[in-house]
Amino acid sequence: MIQLQDLFFHEFISVTQVKEAVNSVSLKINKDYKETSPVFLIVLNGAFFFGSDLIKQFDRTCEMSFIKVASYKGTKSSGVVSKVMGLDMSLKDRDVILVEDIVDSGNTIEAILKMLKQEHVKSCKIATLFYKPLAYKKNYPIDYVGMEIGNDFIVGYGLDYNGLGRNLSAIYKLKPRKMKNIVLFGPPGAGKGTQAEYLKTKYQLVHISTGDVFRHNIKNETPLGLLAKSYMDKGDLVPDEVTIEMLKSEVDKNSKAHGFIFDGFPRTHYQAAALDSFLADKGEGINGMVALEVDEDLLVERLLKRGETSGRSDDQDESKIRNRFNEYNTKTAVLKDY
Ligand code: ADP
Repeated sequence: MIQLQDLFFHEFISVTQVKEAVNSVSLKINKDYKETSPVFLIVLNGAFFFGSDLIKQFDRTCEMSFIKVASYKGTKSSGVVSKVMGLDMSLKDRDVILVEDIVDSGNTIEAILKMLKQEHVKSCKIATLFYKPLAYKKNYPIDYVGMEIGNDFIVGYGLDYNGLGRNLSAIYKLKPRKMKNIVLFGPPGAGKGTQAEYLKTKYQLVHISTGDVFRHNIKNETPLGLLAKSYMDKGDLVPDEVTIEMLKSEVDKNSKAHGFIFDGFPRTHYQAAALDSFLADKGEGINGMVALEVDEDLLVERLLKRGETSGRSDDQDESKIRNRFNEYNTKTAVLKDY
């Protein structure tokens, strides 16, 4: 599996299969163009690799040229408008082979064919490495197809996601994210736990509050509980290593979850990076963060009130509460940008 920015992809078409697809197109073109010297018109940037490999296998004389198609939103409701740029030779009375990496809706093909008509070409055939029959909305015949694929989003061998992935030799397919993972962020007493209750019902998520897990361990007098207690009693953060291991095991206990609400985690930069890489190994990630912002004096009031009934010693002493804010402001608040 590979990661490009926020998305994950897994191998879909091997290097060998790509080569075979290129070869099959090249065999047909070599057969069809025995008598003429065509112009290969390569659509940049995506068809750069395919065009290169294809033309190297062409066994007669030929020429090549490159064009680009820029898409932009039209001012009218007509939707996307495509502009063809960069043609640097006359194609009048020439046999043109248009080389595309992938034919999807057919909008690009249409824009290029219109341009070629104005150029008065003698003939034009379309060669594409990949073709998505389910997405194709036009009627122009696609003459040479390396491989038909479904409606998958693919990268590699010239195809990109936000400019990345073109250099991959095999083809990779987007892995759909299964989970919805949310981080609830905010200082002690902001109401993360309360909001988590709503969200978990509405989106059927598993709620993990690291504070609750620690308190559960303290109640059951586990080794983890005994260790955490000394920190929590003072309002200090429990060390990262311990907290991260605990969180991982909570996530792994719920392997069938639709997603998680992380409440009170991450609280340090180190925890945030660990969470990212832990989820990335599963092909998942954080989809969003909700930050709750409340004035500190109001928070103190709320926490002391909660302390009257919660039995939490860290809620009953203003200096401990202020220490938790201090931990939050120095170690956690910076994560908002992260
Ligand atoms: P609150 O948000 O009101 O402080 P929590 O239940 O989230 O309540 O946390 C209580 C205590 O548990 C914290 O003060 C800290 O000692 C410990 N704790 C909870 N989550 C973490 C974490 N991610 N990293 C380190 N310590 C944590």
